[in-house]
Amino acid sequence: MPNSLPLHCRVCGLPQLTPPWGDDGKSPTFEICDCCGTEFGYDDATPAGITRARARWKASGFQWFTASARPEGWNADAQLPGQQHGS
Ligand SMILES: [Zn+2]
Repeated sequence: MPNSLPLHCRVCGLPQLTPPWGDDGKSPTFEICDCCGTEFGYDDATPAGITRARARWKASGFQWFTASARPEGWNADAQLPGQQHGS
């Protein structure tokens, strides 16, 4: 999996309908992730911000910002970016 995931939330890895940072990766939409509640272009603007937002989301027990958008049987570990399984 490539490092750049233009369609995925940088914090939780949820695929978005539109690229959170725009087609050029520099034009954040400032929309809120349904999953972790990150505001694109704000919470995820820096690596430290991403780490902080992810820690906050983790501390909440991976609660969905929009609970109704949570798929049945959803698993945070399977979705989180940068998780290497079996290596
Ligand atoms: Zn997210």
